[in-house]
Amino acid sequence: MPNRRFADGEVVMGRWPGSVLYYEVQVTSYDDVSHLYTVKYKDGTELALKESDIRSQSSFRQRKSQSSSSSPSRRSSSRSRSRSPGRPAKGRRRSSSQSREHKDDKKKTISETNLVLLVFKPSENNTRRYNGEPESTERNDTSSIISEQKLKPDLEIARVLEQYSLRPRKEEKKREEIYSEKKIFETKKVIEKASLKSIEKASSKTKELEFGGRIGTFTLIFFLPATVLYLLLMCKQDDPSLMNFPPPLPALESLWEARVFGVFLLWFFLQALFYLLPIGKVVEGLPLSNGRKLQYRINGFYAFVMTAAVIGTLLYFQFELHYLYDHFLQFAVAAAAFSMVLSIYLYIRSLKAPKEELAPGGNSGYFVYDFFTGHELNPRIGSFDLKYFCELRPGLIGWVVINLAMLLAEMKIHNQSMPSLSMILVNSFQLLYVVDALWNEEAVLTTMDITHDGFGFMLAFGDLVWVPFVYSLQAFYLVGHPTAISWPVAAAITILNCVGYYIFRSANSQKNSFRRNPADPKLAYLKSIPTATGKGLLVTGWWGFVRHPNYLGDIIMALAWSLPCGFNHILPYFYVIYFICLLVHREARDEHHCKQKYGLAWERYCQRVPYRIFPYIY
Ligand code: NDP
Repeated sequence: MPNRRFADGEVVMGRWPGSVLYYEVQVTSYDDVSHLYTVKYKDGTELALKESDIRSQSSFRQRKSQSSSSSPSRRSSSRSRSRSPGRPAKGRRRSSSQSREHKDDKKKTISETNLVLLVFKPSENNTRRYNGEPESTERNDTSSIISEQKLKPDLEIARVLEQYSLRPRKEEKKREEIYSEKKIFETKKVIEKASLKSIEKASSKTKELEFGGRIGTFTLIFFLPATVLYLLLMCKQDDPSLMNFPPPLPALESLWEARVFGVFLLWFFLQALFYLLPIGKVVEGLPLSNGRKLQYRINGFYAFVMTAAVIGTLLYFQFELHYLYDHFLQFAVAAAAFSMVLSIYLYIRSLKAPKEELAPGGNSGYFVYDFFTGHELNPRIGSFDLKYFCELRPGLIGWVVINLAMLLAEMKIHNQSMPSLSMILVNSFQLLYVVDALWNEEAVLTTMDITHDGFGFMLAFGDLVWVPFVYSLQAFYLVGHPTAISWPVAAAITILNCVGYYIFRSANSQKNSFRRNPADPKLAYLKSIPTATGKGLLVTGWWGFVRHPNYLGDIIMALAWSLPCGFNHILPYFYVIYFICLLVHREARDEHHCKQKYGLAWERYCQRVPYRIFPYIY
């Protein structure tokens, strides 16, 4: 007898895939192999849902009765509360007779059921609703464009279509076309398809392999460390021109030093200690596929300040920080060895992880692929989140320390009382970038790295080796290849960096604020288009300029970091070249995910904002 909670024929509330909305559905069958229920929505749509996406009707009835007793003024306030999909539904009283689902509800903080979506059925009454919420909560965070419309009955269909993000505001002609049943039918089909895809993704193996699949990821496991080694060896040469490829290989035994490895471990565990300190606020991440939200301590900036105090103390006691410069290659090898051991550990432990905790993109069933992309989404030892910790602490803060070591090494080697202007610029620009990332640490919780990518070799190596040892290449280059720049040139480069930073910061802040609270009065001047998932897409402001304005700002800054190294060699420009490739590839990945998530709404967005990163170019 299969262990199932809902019987065939039972009428329950089913979550609309890819969204946080629940509709009345009838259970038609249950597959005890895949553990999926086939349910039928009232419009005839049949979908396969996981048990966690199904609730009994009683929980919704309770909410409905509570909500419908609200006064009009209360309604409007609850409406604005419900505009934030991730906000918990605080203050809702529950009777003791409520069923177990309510307790589950509470545990999982499924507040999203506040949101309501009208579902249009061509063959039935257009104004009919399928959920247990009152009309007043119908508007969700995505309705900003249509918020001014009065909901006359004959506009109900339009409203539904707006929910699916189909039309621009003023194009009346198109509006008529969109209202036609044919279009509605097509819309529903596309959404259905996208929803089915997301269900398939959540419940089965990763089918679309990225990074060149198994061969690509296998190659990258060797190619990435080789690239780091190559770049560092080239940088050490007196003439690092590409003509001098390949650089002479050092003796193997010279690459490894136990003491260096010990210092690396000390660094890693010192950062872990700072991470564990109970200072800084604790916030919730985005909801996982099972509705659960993980908690994260935000204390990266404090960790940075404490690290600065430790380094300051070491310098005060005459510790020679240029030890880092002298053993740079060994440090890179130590970090690479550590990241490999960590990746192996991560993969082994991921084999025991529950299915719903696996990364959507790293569950192909192919060892190499999953090892590289990361099999488990949020590996934790107790409350210690390994991925989140590695994202912003040892590598990112390490990068700044390495830059400082390069600055001191430059002064020592060239007998300077002051660092060169080029070195000061590189250090200051990159320091600003790191401090900004740590100051805005919370924003990392909504990035692809945290929400989509598992923790495997790609991120372990990227965070612990690539970021600190490749991103500091300009400073490393300047030690061996002093470059004098004039004050006006320095001023021009500084302005370029400020422009890049301004675009990067304001674009990221705009999106983060909008995601946190779409009803934020500070964002009232921005327009968004709604999507079927309940989230909106900004179409004005920075996100109406290009589809990834934050990448544009980041690339401009990357250029500003390379320019102080002059034009003698291409090596210091490696970062900006690589970064453009990385962000173009990342943008393509993100587009792909957004297209799956938002379907037609995303296409609509792409029509309105045709350029991806570079306006009028790409
Ligand atoms: P982004 O911050 O660019 O976020 C992409 C997500 O934003 C999408 O998946 C979508 O998610 C949401 N979104 C897209 N368009 C819109 C819109 N119009 N309105 C509202 N939301 C939208 O992701 P990344 O993680 O790639 O980048 C974060 C930052 O990190 C960037 O500034 C990037 O430059 C930087 N970065 C730096 C790297 C480095 O090595 N220095 C490496 C990678 C990134 P949803 O709708 O689900 O919210």
